[in-house]
Amino acid sequence: MSQEGGLMPRETKDPVRIQTSAGGVIYRPSPGGPFPFAEVVLVSVKGGKIWTLPKGKVDRRESLEETALREVSEETGLKGELAGKIGEITYWYFLPDRTRCKKTVHFFLMKYLSGSTEDHDWEVDDAAWFQVEDAIKAVSYRGDREMLEKAKEMIAGKAVF
Ligand code: ATP
Repeated sequence: MSQEGGLMPRETKDPVRIQTSAGGVIYRPSPGGPFPFAEVVLVSVKGGKIWTLPKGKVDRRESLEETALREVSEETGLKGELAGKIGEITYWYFLPDRTRCKKTVHFFLMKYLSGSTEDHDWEVDDAAWFQVEDAIKAVSYRGDREMLEKAKEMIAGKAVF
């Protein structure tokens, strides 16, 4: 059957949006706790149903590192200093207008400096400290779990406690 005057090829009517975000695993010593003797912060979203790592979109003229520090600070209420790149994750989702979006999120390890999770952003339902192993169990997304596993190795390799 002729397609003349009919549907456009799939590629042209199915645009893909590319998004880049950055976030972090912020940690502090927890000497009495289990290996690697550190706690990390997660935020909960979607009415508290999902625990995830703090992150957000990269603004114009901002480096990935600047975004990560800003987003962690805004979402969790905590200031940190960079302690290395953990890695990045990529996932797909649909925007409200049904455009497909391919998103890459760059994650950095951060050493806690100051602040309280009570000052978390109103855009997240909660922000809380977890022992690293508990955080790995609590997160909903596989990518977050992978980033936390890597962060655990990085924290364990640091002679800071
Ligand atoms: P940002 O915090 O970067 O501004 P956002 O709040 O606009 O992002 P996302 O958090 O990326 O949007 O959520 C968009 C969709 O992707 C939601 O359906 C969410 O459930 C899903 N999502 C969020 N994080 C992940 C992940 N790590 N792996 C897979 N899907 C995810």
